[in-house]
Amino acid sequence: MKALCWVGTNKLSVERIPDPEILNPHDAIIRVGLSSVCGSDLHLLDGYVPTMREGDVIGHEFMGEVVAVGPALKKMKRGDRVVVASVVACGGCWFCDTGQYSLCDNGNAHAAVAEKALGYPGAGIFGYSHAFGGYSGSHAQYIRVPFAENGCFIIPDGVRDESALFCSDAFPTGFMAADMCGIEPGDIVAVWGAGGVGQMAMHSAYLLGASRVIAIDRFPERLAMARTYARAETLNYEEVDILEALKEMTGGRGPDRCIDAVGMEAHSPGAEHYYDLVKQQLKIETDRPAVLRQAIMACRKGGTLSIVGVYGGLIDKFPMGAAMNKGLTFRMGQMHAQKYIPRLLDYVQAGAVDPAYLLTHRWPLERGPEGYDMFKHKTDNCVRVAFQP
Ligand SMILES: [Zn+2]
Ligand SMILES: [Zn+2]
Repeated sequence: MKALCWVGTNKLSVERIPDPEILNPHDAIIRVGLSSVCGSDLHLLDGYVPTMREGDVIGHEFMGEVVAVGPALKKMKRGDRVVVASVVACGGCWFCDTGQYSLCDNGNAHAAVAEKALGYPGAGIFGYSHAFGGYSGSHAQYIRVPFAENGCFIIPDGVRDESALFCSDAFPTGFMAADMCGIEPGDIVAVWGAGGVGQMAMHSAYLLGASRVIAIDRFPERLAMARTYARAETLNYEEVDILEALKEMTGGRGPDRCIDAVGMEAHSPGAEHYYDLVKQQLKIETDRPAVLRQAIMACRKGGTLSIVGVYGGLIDKFPMGAAMNKGLTFRMGQMHAQKYIPRLLDYVQAGAVDPAYLLTHRWPLERGPEGYDMFKHKTDNCVRVAFQP
């Protein structure tokens, strides 16, 4: 089959590789219908995620059709149209039982690698390095899905492929970001990053009771999207001082809840960006925490910071004093897809949110390298590219 492979930092290639097979009775094989790029893939591409190997198939947000099922699967059958959680979790351990699927004890086939880096291993993620299980990703014609009955969700009638697609990763991540905020009626929520996850966090904040949502980014087309589709007020951080602007918009109090939907490759105007870039290049810090620093300063006293942008290692100049003295609450994590997907499919079916607007480009898999280049440099107003393998 054809697959889009990582072959080195900033190098992708479409290759012919063997078709996946059922390896475990709980596996299913899915013929991929649509597979989207995700902002977190750029960290792989840029070489910030260790344990990638030449030839690894990337991609973790996808939907498709079940073409083979392992003998232990009772509820799934060939021909089912499904969206698949990007997180590989067993569905039976203590963490899964308590809804913390991304912390699953059994989802990571390479647990020892993660244990060394994190203390305890978390779940696996499709196509996201050997530290996250070494699972082959979804930018391919077919994919093996372990623990398939825990990870695959039947797409309800009337929900289009491109709407279901983002219930795999971007929507549950954005929803969890808002959920972790503990939003109370009337809250003002600020969201850093107006990409796919940020946009979904904005919708989710309203669904959970926010009265106002403020989006922060630097790309005019993404800010326009946030205004049009997610009913957000917007700030361009290259045009205004974010701290001052947020203070002014909130009567001097600051936003009640702040969401970091950017993560380790944050960009900021001015000297701070170059300071972080140099430290990162010299490997003195692995992540550029510009958004985190700004959100800590901007958040109202006693507010909550919810972090779903991915961080990989160590950061520098973290304003712990501000966080402590302002009494901030921090919530963070890889998202628990399996916990949220059924609820999100309901929202989509009911017409409350249609994430399909994120899809700006729908391309054949052969154009994978070009698609990532466009996504990375945000040319042609690209928000999300999905490949049709
Ligand atoms: Zn993702
Ligand atoms: Zn589990």
